Amino acid sequence: MSADKPISSLQKSLAAIALAAVSGLVGWIVPYLLPFAKPAWQATTDFVVGVSAHLVRSTPVPNWLLYLICGAVVLCVVVIVGAFISAPPAEPPYKQYRTDNFFGVKWVWRYSGDDPIGICPICPTCQTVLVYGEQMEAIDHWNSAYMVSLFCETCNMRRLHEKGDRTYLNEKIYRQIEVRLRTGTWQDSR
Ligand SMILES: [Zn+2]
Repeated sequence: MSADKPISSLQKSLAAIALAAVSGLVGWIVPYLLPFAKPAWQATTDFVVGVSAHLVRSTPVPNWLLYLICGAVVLCVVVIVGAFISAPPAEPPYKQYRTDNFFGVKWVWRYSGDDPIGICPICPTCQTVLVYGEQMEAIDHWNSAYMVSLFCETCNMRRLHEKGDRTYLNEKIYRQIEVRLRTGTWQDSR
């Protein structure tokens, strides 16, 4: 506790020096600023008095012109407020990315928040929505696997044939979309 005294007296000395420095600086600057301060204050009060006098004064404007000006002002306010209210919130640019080709098939989707949803396969040739098919198939002599396929009824052609089911395929496409969004490479596919 005895060490407190020298520190507090040092702080007092520093405070005294700082106070002296500040008062010296103020004393030096104020005489320079005073000549400017008075005209600035005078100009401000003159301006306020002038504007007040102008506002209470009446002008010989015809009523039709007064109504016309008021109408124009009201119209402007309505247009500006209307534009603000009706303008949809700006979409982030990546939400324009709603289609891409994966595994030889065109895919389209929309967004719920930041999430791609409603992922749908489209025939790259005729733009028809493809039909999912799922079935167990023999992959060799001893093994069989669940397979998913996408079929175009218009072209009468199978466009995709992969291991897994419909859910797995859609999640696979989701991951492809997600990686392009995350890495920014979706812009290359545009
Ligand atoms: Zn087709």
